[in-house]
Amino acid sequence: DGKKKVCIVGSGNWGSAIAKVVGNNVKSLDEFETEVKMWVFEEEINGRKLTEIINTDHENVKYLPGHKIPENVIAVPDLIDSAKDADIYIFVIPHQFLPKVCQQLVGNIKSTALGVSLIKGFTMKEGGGIALISSEVENTLKIPCAVLMGANIANEVASENYCEATIGINNKDQGLLLKKLFQADYFRIVVCEDEDTVELCGALKNIVATGAGFADGLGYGDNTKAAVIRLGLMEMVKFCEAFYHGSTQSTFLESCGVADLVTTCYAGRNRKVAAAFVKSGKTIEELEKEMLNGQKLQGPPTAEEVNFMLKSKNMEDRFPMFTAVHKICKGDLPVEEFINCLKNHPEHM
Ligand code: NAD
Ligand code: 13P
Repeated sequence: DGKKKVCIVGSGNWGSAIAKVVGNNVKSLDEFETEVKMWVFEEEINGRKLTEIINTDHENVKYLPGHKIPENVIAVPDLIDSAKDADIYIFVIPHQFLPKVCQQLVGNIKSTALGVSLIKGFTMKEGGGIALISSEVENTLKIPCAVLMGANIANEVASENYCEATIGINNKDQGLLLKKLFQADYFRIVVCEDEDTVELCGALKNIVATGAGFADGLGYGDNTKAAVIRLGLMEMVKFCEAFYHGSTQSTFLESCGVADLVTTCYAGRNRKVAAAFVKSGKTIEELEKEMLNGQKLQGPPTAEEVNFMLKSKNMEDRFPMFTAVHKICKGDLPVEEFINCLKNHPEHM
C-alpha cells in the first residue's frame, strides 16, 4: 500500500528516546506503517532479556528508565530480522559499532531504502583520513543517508521538554518526509541542505564538550566554559573550512551547531565523565564503565579519530583544542595544560 516501513537500528539512550518520538508519530501519519521495528543489542537484565522487557513492559529499563516506549515499537534481537523490508533506517548506535553493523546489513536491505544517521563520530580510513558516518553508510549499503543532529539530550527529549533539531539532507522531498517522521510539537525540526556541516557539527562538538568537562573538573567557572565553547566553535568552523569545502556559516546557527555545543558542554555525558577524570585520576575507560551503566562516550574516540587525520597531515597545531583533548584523554598531556591551551590559542594571536 506504499506505506513506508521504519526500522530503528539501535536502542540505547538516544535510540530509545527517538523510538518514543517516531513510534508515536507514525500512528497518525498515512505515509508510514504503524509498526516500527527496533534492533536491540540483546542483553540480560535480572534474568530477563532486554527485548522481552521492552516488548512486555514497553520501557528500556537500562538505557532510558522512566519513559514508556509506544507499543507499536517492536524490539527485535536479530539485526537482519529487524532490518529486512524496511524503507527507512534510523541509525542510532555508538559510532564505534557502526562499521560492523553496516557490514552485516550488506545484501539484506532494499536498494530503494533511505538512511538517516543520528550518530556522532567518524570512522578512520587507511592512510590517515576519516569519513563521515553517513558516508560510511552510503558507501557500504549503497543507499542515501541523511543526518539528524541537534541540542537533544535524550532524557530531556523523552520528557517532552521543548527542543529543536536539524535534518541535513540535500533531497528536498525526502527531507520533508523525514521531517514528518521526527517532528513533534515539543521537537521542532529545520531541514538544511548543508548536510556535511550538520553532521560535522554533531561529531566535533563532543570533543569540545570533553574539554568543557576538563575545565569544570579543574574548578574553573562559567566564563572559562564560555571561552571553551567559543574557541571550540572556532575550531569546528575551521575544520569544516579546511576539510569539507562549501559550509554555509548559517548552519552553525542551527540547532546542530551552537545549540548542541552549548547543551552538551553543560549537560552531556562527555562533560560529566571528563570532569570526573580530573578529580579521580582514573582513566576515561574506567569512568565510562563506572558512571554510564553501558552508555558510551563519543568525545574521546572522536578526538582520537580527528587526531589520526590531523597528525597524518601535520596539522595538529592548527587545532590546539582538539589536539589537547585527545592527548589528555590518552594520558599523554597533564589535564592542567588544557588551560594553557586556551591561553595560547591562535585565536588570540
Ligand atoms: P548509548 O550511549 O546509550 O549506548 C548504549 C547502546 O550501545 C546500547 O543500546 C547497547 O546495547 C549498545 N551496544 C553496546 N555494545 C554494542 C555492540 N558491540 N554493538 C552494537 N551496539 C552495542 O547510545 P545512544 O545514547 O543511543 O547514542 C547513539 C548515538 O546517538 C551516539 O553517536 C550519540 O552521540 C548520539 N546521540 C546521543 C544523545 C544522547 O543524549 N544520548 C543525543 C544525541 C545524539
Ligand atoms: P553526550 O554524549 O555528551 O551526552 O551528548 C549528547 C548529545 O549529543 C546531545 O545532543
